[in-house]
Order: sequence, then structure tokens, then C-alpha cells
Amino acid sequence: MSITDAIKDMEKYMGLEKDFSEYMNAPLPNNGHAYIQMDYKTGKQWVHCPYCGKKNFPVEEYTKISRLPYQCKGSNCREIFEVNV
Ligand SMILES: [Zn+2]
Repeated sequence: MSITDAIKDMEKYMGLEKDFSEYMNAPLPNNGHAYIQMDYKTGKQWVHCPYCGKKNFPVEEYTKISRLPYQCKGSNCREIFEVNV
């Protein structure tokens, strides 16, 4: 059972009217791929590094990226990860 299933189970058990996703982000798969998260100040979507979590570059709804190898700009990280948007 993954942590995502455990949270789904908890939702059912607690009988919540609202979805958990309104309070927290779903856990991320650890597969070396970049993830997209909203910047809550500006409402823009950003591509984040899967290793250190640094915001790397912004994307829009119409942005299409597939299999882009990208090196993290974090000075202590510099990992190369794959971006799919
Ligand atoms: Zn990084």
C-alpha cells in the first residue's frame, strides 16, 4: 500500500466532506522526474527539482515539454532530471 492509498483510506474512514487535496499536495512518486507545483503567491505553475525541491522555471497551461533533460539550478544540487509537462 502506498502513502497515497493510505490517505485515500483515511478520507473514507474520517468521512470528510472535502477532499484532502484541498489541504495538502499528494505525495510525489520518486522517479527522478520533475514535478509541477503552484506558487501560492502568484498562482503560476513552476517546474520543481525532484531532488532538492527548488523552483526552476515557470510554465503556462499551453506549455508542452516532453523528455527534456534539465540540470537543477540549485547550487548544492546540480542533479539532472527529466521534465514532462
Ligand atoms: Zn535540485
